[in-house]
Amino acid sequence: MISGPSGVGKGTLRKALFGMITDLEYSISCTTRPSRKGEREGYDYRFVEPDLFRELKREGKFLEWAEVHGNLYGTLKKDVETSLALGKDIVLEIDVQGALQVKDIMPEAVLIFILPPSLGDLKDRLNRRGTEKGEDMRIRLDDARHEIELSARYDHSVVNDDLKTALESLKRIIGSYRQLEENQ
Ligand code: ADP
Ligand code: 5GP
Repeated sequence: MISGPSGVGKGTLRKALFGMITDLEYSISCTTRPSRKGEREGYDYRFVEPDLFRELKREGKFLEWAEVHGNLYGTLKKDVETSLALGKDIVLEIDVQGALQVKDIMPEAVLIFILPPSLGDLKDRLNRRGTEKGEDMRIRLDDARHEIELSARYDHSVVNDDLKTALESLKRIIGSYRQLEENQ
């Protein structure tokens, strides 16, 4: 599981990682947040109405779910179970509340937290991305402090200062677990 404050570069790192390691699966979350320009249904997220999200929740379809920055997000059990049943590793890019829920259910899951070089850098990146404005941006920056505090409960943390260096660290961490699996 990969977590970190909004704008730290999780998506950027994950996409680069998938360009380098081709046999990883990605869990496509459900969310009630509106899609951003360029995001694709069923690729970036499954964009669902709040009513459908609540129904999926009631039916016990989520491995985990959480309200994050004012929207609902959840990982479908089916996606994770299918990958694991096929012996494939699956990456979840989810928030701290969700990641800690999954760790309780699956202690073997690996938690990786992506840290910004500073809160100032985080703000600059969110500004540059330009997908959130005003109140939405303020909420994401406010939430960042609490999220970073919870990083102490993660197995690993990676500072995303230089992108290439951070990507190498991420690759090394994932590779070390896969090596362990091979040796078992
Ligand atoms: P997240 O998925 O964590 O919300 P993104 O991957 O969307 O964050 O990245 C937020 C912005 O920061 C994007 O504009 C991205 O290009 C930029 N970014 C990502 N990594 C770095 C980095 N190491 N240095 C500078 N900018 C970065
Ligand atoms: P964004 O709206 O920027 O795509 O994501 C906001 C936050 O929601 C990020 O921290 C992201 O990791 C988290 N998130 C995305 N999908 C899920 C999910 O399925 N479950 C949980 N708990 N968080 C998610």
